[in-house]
Amino acid sequence: MSKENEMKLEFDSRSCNEGFARVAVAAFLTQLNPTLEEVADVKTALSEAVTNAIIHGYEGRVEKIVIRCRICGQKIEIEVMDQGAGIPDVKQAMEPLFTTREDCERAGMGFSFMEAFMDTLEVTSAPGEGTRVKMTKYIGRSRGEQEG
Ligand code: ATP
Ligand code: MG
Repeated sequence: MSKENEMKLEFDSRSCNEGFARVAVAAFLTQLNPTLEEVADVKTALSEAVTNAIIHGYEGRVEKIVIRCRICGQKIEIEVMDQGAGIPDVKQAMEPLFTTREDCERAGMGFSFMEAFMDTLEVTSAPGEGTRVKMTKYIGRSRGEQEG
């Protein structure tokens, strides 16, 4: 049986809300009966996307971040959206070690972590309009759950 379930969160782009977003998404994920490792992977990827929206998208201004999570069968799809600065060259931004903020000790590894910890990663962005990061992960691979 393939189940579908969706939720949406909207919160201020304050770094104190990062932990809230992580825990909320992790709680939503529990219905797929994930391993601790799968939960940790999703939390890490989500944190990177939310941090990016706060630091690069809104550059410290307090505006809204939206997270949409959809479960379809054993797959979770997570979208993190901001209406901030946007990214002029997405391909370049996604390269390991690329950062526009060397000044503040950023490693340029956020997108690489999202790619490593999730199964798919798609970034859509337009300068001045904002950024949407969409990632998916199949939960239950290690337990031999049926894919599809
Ligand atoms: P780290 O994540 O390792 O602290 P970083 O944030 O610079 O460093 P990435 O997360 O890989 O590295 O992002 C690469 C670059 O893409 C950023 O330096 C920034 O220029 C741009 N970027 C990423 N997310 C956004 C966003 N939501 N809005 C605007 N620019 C972004
Ligand atoms: Mg980052």
